Amino acid sequence: MVKECVNQRFNKNYAHFSLKFTLISVEYMVKVSYKWGEKMDLENVWLTFLEKVKKQLSDISYETWFSESKLIAIEDGVVKVLVPSHVHKKNLKEHYIDLIEEKFAEVTGTNFKFEFYIEEELENNIVINTDEIGIPSNNFESNLDPKYRFDNFVIGKSNKFAATSALAVAEQPGNMYNPLFIYGSSGLGKTHLMHAIGNYITENNKKMKVLYIPCDKFVSDFVEICRKSANDNNMEATKQFKNKYREIDVLIIDDIHNLVGAVSAQQEFFNTFNELYNNNKQIIISSDRSPEDIKKLEERLKTRFNWGLQIDILPPEFELRMNIINKKIEMQGLENGFPENVKEYIASNCVGDIRKLEGAITRVYAYATIMNGSAITLDLAVEALKDFFVQTIVAKNKIDQVIQLVSENYNISPEDLKSKKKTNNIAIPRQIAMYICRIYLEENLTKIGIEFGGKNHTTVMHAVDKIKNEILKDEALNNEIQKLINKIR
Ligand code: ADP
Ligand code: MG
Repeated sequence: MVKECVNQRFNKNYAHFSLKFTLISVEYMVKVSYKWGEKMDLENVWLTFLEKVKKQLSDISYETWFSESKLIAIEDGVVKVLVPSHVHKKNLKEHYIDLIEEKFAEVTGTNFKFEFYIEEELENNIVINTDEIGIPSNNFESNLDPKYRFDNFVIGKSNKFAATSALAVAEQPGNMYNPLFIYGSSGLGKTHLMHAIGNYITENNKKMKVLYIPCDKFVSDFVEICRKSANDNNMEATKQFKNKYREIDVLIIDDIHNLVGAVSAQQEFFNTFNELYNNNKQIIISSDRSPEDIKKLEERLKTRFNWGLQIDILPPEFELRMNIINKKIEMQGLENGFPENVKEYIASNCVGDIRKLEGAITRVYAYATIMNGSAITLDLAVEALKDFFVQTIVAKNKIDQVIQLVSENYNISPEDLKSKKKTNNIAIPRQIAMYICRIYLEENLTKIGIEFGGKNHTTVMHAVDKIKNEILKDEALNNEIQKLINKIR
């Protein structure tokens, strides 16, 4: 009914306005006909164009946005189109312009710009700025990094399923897989994919509020706000925090394993999850392990994660590593100066971490620059990456790897870590390292004792128990240990 009224009004007034444009139209009809080398008036041009557009769209989209449009003139390379309302004007301009320009160029063989008018504008000779009508553009702070996109995510066997599922969710947020749970070791592209989903959604639907947040930031924000609220004896800040999360359309939460140990934040996340999920809001989660493998994560949260789709990203195969190297150097515009054998050398040595692959490329470039811009050769690359690759190979086993990592983190030597020194700055990191080996690598107590400079298995057991108790009381310590574990993975 409403639509009918609008149509009637539109058709009645259109007759009136088209008069104004008759002169221009005739003038251009001649020019246009001449240019195209055949007798084609504007109306026919428009009909042919509409036929082409129709084939590209669903019936409903075509009927709603195009069926009532009319070409009124072509002037100075600009096609002027009359449309029924400013909603049409805004939507055609913002969402269909590429399709319109492409299909019109197919009909005319010429690239034109487009302008859309509504009757009111023609009648009163005014221009209505549709940018200021309707929903203001999304100024919600989404924390999305624009550099992570689907078009610069290189796909191979190991990440194909993850990338496809991510795109499906990006196209239909809330309707495909909810939650989408992406897991895999560090440096395999989880964060990249999550930002790509967020960027895709905000680009295609400016109204959607998307929020990306690393889990440890969620935890620290929540803890801080609760503390502040308790100090001030005012719950307003806590309420605002809760509301902020409840009103978003897409929640992207990275590295959820960092929720382990943060009891109150886990509860808050559980509530947020339920509320968003019940309102069909999309939730996207990443972790370095599958939900089943996140020890100490509440069962009810694991159950929630099972409701959607869980996908893992595997370490990249050789071919994907080569393709990623090619993409990275192409993005820097330097594909010619990077010989094939250097790419192969990097691809063969960086096996399980794409971040490391990027680091190797940067290092080779930096080295070539320092050497006064010398050409990149295999010899130069080997020299540049001497220490870089060695770091990963030098650890003789997993326990040794933990020893190196922990000593580096606390700025002490591996020898000190393995020694009998009892000062806190050495004894505590030693206990932490033993704890990680026992709990996360599930190594046997005797073997850990041997690797830590020949200690008795009861010493190891004591250290493990001590840290177990400490992290229950000390959230900061727990987070610190989680970060170390992530690095190992
Ligand atoms: P994760 O979150 O799994 O630890 P990231 O998403 O941070 O890993 O990825 C590490 C780096 O590797 C980023 O710079 C990212 O852009 C890059 N990267 C990962 N996978 C790909 C890929 N398939 N194509 C291109 N770059 C990738
Ligand atoms: Mg990440």
